[in-house]
Amino acid sequence: MPCTCASPTRASAWARLRRQSYLNIPAIITAAKITGAQAIHPGYGFLSENAKFAEIVEKSGITFIGPKPEHIRMMGDKITAKEAIQTAGVPVVPGSDGGLPTVEDATAAAKRIGYPVLIKATAGGGGRGMKVATTPDELEVAFQTARSEAKAAFGNDAVYMEKYLQKPRHIEIQIVADGHGNVIHLGERDCSLQRRHQKVFEEAPSPVIDADARAKIGKTVTTAIKKLGYLGAGTIEFLYENGEFYFLEMNTRLQVEHPVTEMITGLDLVQVQIRIAAGEKLSLTQKDVVISGHAIECRINAENPETFAPSPGLITDFHAPGGLGVRLDSAVYSGYRVPPYYDSLIGKLIVHAPTRAEAIARLRRALGETVVGGVETTLPLHMRLVDNKDIQAGNYDIHWLEGFLKSPKDTKKG
Ligand code: ADP
Repeated sequence: MPCTCASPTRASAWARLRRQSYLNIPAIITAAKITGAQAIHPGYGFLSENAKFAEIVEKSGITFIGPKPEHIRMMGDKITAKEAIQTAGVPVVPGSDGGLPTVEDATAAAKRIGYPVLIKATAGGGGRGMKVATTPDELEVAFQTARSEAKAAFGNDAVYMEKYLQKPRHIEIQIVADGHGNVIHLGERDCSLQRRHQKVFEEAPSPVIDADARAKIGKTVTTAIKKLGYLGAGTIEFLYENGEFYFLEMNTRLQVEHPVTEMITGLDLVQVQIRIAAGEKLSLTQKDVVISGHAIECRINAENPETFAPSPGLITDFHAPGGLGVRLDSAVYSGYRVPPYYDSLIGKLIVHAPTRAEAIARLRRALGETVVGGVETTLPLHMRLVDNKDIQAGNYDIHWLEGFLKSPKDTKKG
C-alpha cells in the first residue's frame, strides 16, 4: 500500500523503492520458480489488483490465486465496473454517464444530477482523487483538483461524477465464486467509520441491516456475479441510505477488513481462495452460511492519533492482547522498526462475541491490554470510539468520524 508522505521528491523515491522491493514482478516470479511454487497469492496490496501481474503469473505456468485478469481489469476502472454491474442488475449511485473530459461536461452533468456532487477518479483507490462540489461555484476547482490528484496518484486523470450522498453508511458484501458456477455471499461488513474516505474501524454484521435486507441484497449481488462469470473472492461495496443500496465499486481481492467476516462465518477466506484456485467446488451452499455473533476490527496505524501524521521508527515495547474472541493480525514485535516507505497499518485487532454490546466490551478490554511503545499509534482513538455513545448505539454514517475528530476533545467521549 502507498504511504502518504509530504514531500513529492521523497514520495517518488519511496515509490521507486516499492517497485524494487515487494512490487518487483520479475523477482517474485523468479522466487516462485526457484522454490517450485505452484501458485501465488497476491495478498491485498497493489499486485492483487494488477491484471498484468495476474497474466504474467499465469503465463509463467503458475496459478494466480485470484480472479481472472479480465475481471480485475473491468473492476479496476470504476466506469466500466459501474456499467457492468448495472447491466447485471445492481443499483448504482446516480451519476454521470461515463467520464467527464472537460469542465463543461462536468457542469452539464452536475446540473442534471443536482448538487452536491462528487468528482471521482476512474482509476481511484484509497480515497484519493475525490472532491466534493456543493455549489456550481465550487465545481471547477473540485474538477481540476480531482484530476491533478488522480494524475499524481494513478498516472491517469480521467474522472467521473456521482451524486454526493449526505448520510449514507458504507456497507459491503463479501462474495466467493468457484469455477463450477456456484456463487455465495457471506453477509455484509459495515465500514462507515472513515477518515478521508479511508476505513478506520469495521464491523460485521452491520447494526442497520436485518436478515431480510441481507438476503435481498445478497441475492441481487450473487445473481449479478454469476452473470459476470466471476471467479474467486470479491467485495461489492455500496453506500446505503434510506433503506436503499447504491453500488460504489467492486474490489477483486481480499479486503483488509476480511477478518470480521471470517469471525462471524467461521470460514478461513484465504483457504477458500486457495481451494477455488485449485479448481475445487465451494464446500458450502448459501443455506449453509451461518452468521454467528458480532465482530469488530480496529486498524492500528503507526500515526499520531490526533493529527494522523505517520510515526515510523523503532517499536521499543510490544504486548499483544489475548483471551477468548480476541485476534491480532500483525507481524510487529518489540525491536521491530516501522519503515517510513509504506502504509502505516501495523496491525489489526479483531474481536468476536455473541452480541454487539459484548464485542464492544471485549474490544475495550483488548485495547486496554495492547502495548505498542516507541511509535505513536491510533490505539487511543479506538479507545475513545468504544467509549462513545453513538458508536455504542451503532448510530453513525460515513461522515460521523470526521465530525467527531473536529469536535472539541472534552465532548468526544459522548
Ligand atoms: P476508493 O476506491 O478511493 O476507496 P470508493 O468509491 O470506494 O473510493 O469510495 C470510498 C469512500 O468515499 C466511500 O466509502 C464513501 O465514504 C465515500 N464516497 C464515495 N462515493 C460517494 C458518494 N457518491 N457520496 C458520498 N460519499 C461517497
